[in-house]
Amino acid sequence: MLIDPSYSPEVFVERAHAQGLTITHVINTHSHPDHTNGNERALEQTGAALAAHPSLRPAVALNDGQTMSVGGLRLTTHHVPGHCDDHIVLYESVHRLLITGDLLFVGKVGGTQTDADARTEWHSLQRVLAVIPDEATVWPGHDYGVRPSSTIGLERATNPFLLCADEAAFLRIKSEWPQVKQRLGLK
Ligand SMILES: [Zn+2]
Repeated sequence: MLIDPSYSPEVFVERAHAQGLTITHVINTHSHPDHTNGNERALEQTGAALAAHPSLRPAVALNDGQTMSVGGLRLTTHHVPGHCDDHIVLYESVHRLLITGDLLFVGKVGGTQTDADARTEWHSLQRVLAVIPDEATVWPGHDYGVRPSSTIGLERATNPFLLCADEAAFLRIKSEWPQVKQRLGLK
């Protein structure tokens, strides 16, 4: 499967072919163009089925709690609105992989436009953190942190947004993020 194969989907298609893999699914974590602009080319080159949140009317609708098998992987979908209404994350429980898209990055979380969206994102994060084990590796949609991937345990211990005690603290750090970044020496 290809997840959000934007900008240069052919690179991933070629890599899969070189490994003798057949791509059966193209999955979108959410509908933002920087995640979906490769869909058309990826689908054309692979004949795969598009899978995403049902509101995007994909060939394979991924509802909250739904499981899907791809090769030897068994993925569970979690609907996590906030950054985007149609946002999902995927958890693979055998290898403990969490594909987080723009919900959770290494060291920060996805941007939100309004306080209402920020509150929604907070609840989405809490729902995910309640069920995903600390050992799970986190694979975000952008390489924004000190390394490309992390673990839930490490993010819980170090990510300033996950260290917030409650929704109010989360909203506060969101509104003060430029100053917080400066204080922590982050880019
Ligand atoms: Zn996004």
